[in-house]
Amino acid sequence: NLTTETAKQWLLAAGRDMQENKGYLSELDQAIGDGDHGHNMARGFAEVEKKIASKTYDDVGGVVKDASMTIISKVGGAAGPLYGTAFLKASGVWKGKAEVSDEEFAEGLKAAIDGIAQRGKSEQGQKTMLDVWIPVLQEAEKGNIEAEQLAQTAKEAMEKTEGIEAKKGRAAYLGERSIGHLDPGAYSSYLLFEALVEAIE
Ligand code: ADP
Ligand code: MG
Ligand code: MG
Repeated sequence: NLTTETAKQWLLAAGRDMQENKGYLSELDQAIGDGDHGHNMARGFAEVEKKIASKTYDDVGGVVKDASMTIISKVGGAAGPLYGTAFLKASGVWKGKAEVSDEEFAEGLKAAIDGIAQRGKSEQGQKTMLDVWIPVLQEAEKGNIEAEQLAQTAKEAMEKTEGIEAKKGRAAYLGERSIGHLDPGAYSSYLLFEALVEAIE
């Protein structure tokens, strides 16, 4: 289960990871997009840190909602609104809960994914962030959630995006030439789930 404090640490750890991997994320996006993904994510999460770091929250939903609103208002491009929507939908499920159970955690992820899919008109297998979020949800739905296991699942799922053709986002313009490159949004999503491990430590 995830407490309000752990949720906050999760978002802060994700911000550090986005900052550290800013150059690499943009490099990935340079290959199959417009090269701004690292900048977008680092900027968005820096704003999230500013917003949440010194504020006190009494529910998981509250801190995640602040993150969602910040990302929606500060991050442009495709990923900003998609991550923002994901966090907003999850925050609805986690609203009023000082602690979310493993089952509620999975429910929040499910809502987030539905939000991404609806907003992005996308589904699994199109070389997007969903290719990481969906396997992570499937792992979470097995119950008995361990952050290490989720991070490992996210890593493997992220690596698989290298071998498939992009069907959504800018990378889709490249068609088959997108094969052989990791999807930047899948990589940042992997970082997000890896940050859970850091937060729980
Ligand atoms: P932009 O492409 O507008 O510059 P970013 O570079 O920040 O935005 O984000 C690109 C990432 O967004 C992609 O790598 C992909 O994972 C994700 N993405 C783009 N379009 C979609 C979509 N329709 N559904 C889900 N994810 C998407
Ligand atoms: Mg881009
Ligand atoms: Mg862009």
